[in-house]
Amino acid sequence: MSLPREKLAEMFARTGVTVRTDCTFSSLTTLRVGGEIKLTVRPQNKRQLVACLRLLDKLGEQYIVVGNGSNILANDGFFDGVAVVTKDVNALRIRGNVVTADCGTNTAKIFASLVSSGLGDGEFLGCIPSTVGGAVRGNAGCFGQDVASVVQSVTAVTDNGRLCTLTAEECAFSKRDSIFKRNGWTVLSAKMRFTPSTPQSVRQKFAEMHAKKAATQPLGVPSAGSMLFHSRFSLSPMLDKLGFKGMRVGGAEVSKKHVGFVLNIDKATAEDIYYILRYETNALWRAYGIAAQTEVTCVGFGRQIERGQNDIFTDGQE
Ligand SMILES: Cc1cc2nc3c(=O)[nH]c(=O)nc-3n(C[C@H](O)[C@H](O)[C@H](O)COP(=O)(O)OP(=O)(O)OC[C@H]3O[C@@H](n4cnc5c(N)ncnc54)[C@H](O)[C@@H]3O)c2cc1C
Repeated sequence: MSLPREKLAEMFARTGVTVRTDCTFSSLTTLRVGGEIKLTVRPQNKRQLVACLRLLDKLGEQYIVVGNGSNILANDGFFDGVAVVTKDVNALRIRGNVVTADCGTNTAKIFASLVSSGLGDGEFLGCIPSTVGGAVRGNAGCFGQDVASVVQSVTAVTDNGRLCTLTAEECAFSKRDSIFKRNGWTVLSAKMRFTPSTPQSVRQKFAEMHAKKAATQPLGVPSAGSMLFHSRFSLSPMLDKLGFKGMRVGGAEVSKKHVGFVLNIDKATAEDIYYILRYETNALWRAYGIAAQTEVTCVGFGRQIERGQNDIFTDGQE
């Protein structure tokens, strides 16, 4: 069901959340592409976020939860649904070596607290543009550290609006995956445990990781990081071998520095980027029989959002 914008705006305004009718995905995502959104809501705390999700389920409105927008590719067309932006749901608490953070907390903010508290093994949080919710859902990580290795428990809202708290084991983390991604559940907050260290060594480890990232990834250009993945194989060497580095479609280009990144180098459209992903995926299938999956969440490309699932293109069609 799809309610008119004004009616929806009125209903959500009554719940106390901030409501906007003039947002585009290009303003909410790091790829800087994507069309107008019917309604954007910004809950200010967990209680409001839960109320929003329950209202959306009750209304049967299509929606997407948006954190930092670093892993979303949204179509250029009108999104006839609601974007729930979590950035204001960002309470952070540190007790000893345990950090509890709400889903909209920026991971850079957590990293800054880890530095001042002298807590180690969370340096990756300073290297990844993310909120806690997006990072937990996709088990974000780099250089041997990931969310799975620090999480103690996660509180979430299930697809039928129920609240639950899961142990790390119950989160069923695997490579860029979790129960939240598979089931389309919304992360409310995460409790993470870090290792006592010193501010100096935390800073030093971060500097090393960041330098490595800057040397191998195009960090200053709009992107969504590595866009395709496979649970068992590293796709970059294959994409490299297939000659994708530097491939250009419209304003989008496959990075020459890191073949997994597709960049918005000159007013790219979402279609430009999506075309490259389709092309790459089909090439991987034909050359290696490998069904790559999009690491980014694709919104509005011919299917309803399947919460918990990303598009895969294994049909060999171009
Ligand atoms: C330059 C660059 C470098 C990157 N490097 C890395 C890297 O090294 N390692 C890595 O793992 N990733 C990397 N990424 C990808 C991205 O930063 C991560 O996937 C990040 O965790 C996404 O978090 P987000 O808050 O931006 O999520 P969003 O992009 O806002 O959302 C991504 C998905 O998560 C869902 N989501 C958001 N919030 C919640 C929530 N509270 N509960 C449930 N679902 C939610 C969204 O609905 C969407 O499906 C990189 C991206 C960029 C742009």
